[in-house]
Amino acid sequence: MAATSDVLKPDFGATKKHFIFTEEHDRLRESIRSFVQKELAPHAAEWEETTFPDSVIRRMGELGFLGLSMPEQYGGQGGDYFANIVLAEEMAHAQSGGTAMGVAVHTDMAMPPIHLFGTEEQKQEWLVPAIKGEKILCLGITEPDAGSDVAGIKTRAVRDGDEYVINGSKTYITNGHRADVIVLVTKTDPDAGHGGITLFLVPMDLPGVIREKRLEKLGMHASDTALLAFQDVRVPASAMLGQEGKGFYHISWELQGERLIGAAGCVAGAQRVFDQTVKFALERKAFGREIGHFQVIRHKFAEMATAIESARQMVYTTAWRFANGEYPVREISMAKLHASRVAVDVADECIQIHGGAGYMKEYGVERAWRDLRLNRIGAGTDEIMLDVIGRSYGL
Ligand SMILES: Cc1cc2nc3c(=O)[nH]c(=O)nc-3n(C[C@H](O)[C@H](O)[C@H](O)COP(=O)(O)OP(=O)(O)OC[C@H]3O[C@@H](n4cnc5c(N)ncnc54)[C@H](O)[C@@H]3O)c2cc1C
Repeated sequence: MAATSDVLKPDFGATKKHFIFTEEHDRLRESIRSFVQKELAPHAAEWEETTFPDSVIRRMGELGFLGLSMPEQYGGQGGDYFANIVLAEEMAHAQSGGTAMGVAVHTDMAMPPIHLFGTEEQKQEWLVPAIKGEKILCLGITEPDAGSDVAGIKTRAVRDGDEYVINGSKTYITNGHRADVIVLVTKTDPDAGHGGITLFLVPMDLPGVIREKRLEKLGMHASDTALLAFQDVRVPASAMLGQEGKGFYHISWELQGERLIGAAGCVAGAQRVFDQTVKFALERKAFGREIGHFQVIRHKFAEMATAIESARQMVYTTAWRFANGEYPVREISMAKLHASRVAVDVADECIQIHGGAGYMKEYGVERAWRDLRLNRIGAGTDEIMLDVIGRSYGL
């Protein structure tokens, strides 16, 4: 008969290991978490009012967190895609969705296309200082009249000798007020549909670039969101990023990485608010006992934990395929759709479990809900994800 110590018992407190992560990723996770908890989280409430300062980007550059998967020759850490997943997950501990989003737009939305499609000169001019945190990036796809329908954009870039002249407008642009450069999606041939779209790297201090308005929003208050106008902005032909007429395909690729990183952030955000709420439910008493011990509340947690775990597994498995050279658009869309919905549902249920406290700013649960709500809209809405998934079956 086995001795008592040999009997296998469930270990609910064990660290969650996953095969995509190595010990190096674990060490990276520890160092990012320590930075986030010491230097970002204490400012979460303040930055809701002021937006996060640019010094956050500079500091993260100094610490080497902005180019985790970028080559060492450009100042990056030379890590893999999973390092970016670690960053997205740990940024959830800033308790400030807006700060996490501003950083993610820099590292995982605007930076990858510069790395993949940029010329050596463009990389030296923008990628190197962006990895150092000395220059801030933003990405301009959405326009007042075209969001989901990227081919419907109207911003025009017209060739004039050795230059292009850009006219148009972009909206909801994260980092739009603080950025030094924008990865701008334009039309160079308005009659060519998807084949008429071209990317440019446009310095934000050029004459004709107008930061029109700081937009107010439901959540993500720590980020800045801009309405931008481009009026006869002249850029040299060398400012083109990637190939002329291939911008739609470049940006479609960029969106896949962005969606998966967003999904990882959703899982981590949901987990953080879940953990906070478990603690609350084990302390808060009603009718003579801790509310977490009511079966109905226990089952809410069980449902949430199962949903979070399912989203996490989808993200990790899909990230593994993406990192190994596949282009699993269907599964990335599924992961993005599922993780966003889970995150919003979990945050909503956590407000419920907190009762009136959940509605108060002091607890931060309402902020988590407001911040996470964006994920069902940004980087491709739920409806667009469903359409991509449905079409992938030939429907
Ligand atoms: C806080 C915030 C930050 C953002 N940051 C950026 C940024 O940095 N850069 C950037 O370029 N954009 C950014 N966006 C824009 C975001 O990506 C778009 O809002 C999103 O893609 C949806 O586009 P839209 O708002 O134009 O909605 P629309 O495309 O007008 O959609 C409106 C509704 O119609 C539905 N719909 C549209 N087409 C279809 C269809 N074919 N089938 C079924 N339903 C459909 C949509 O799902 C949605 O419910 C940001 C948005 C927000 C709110």
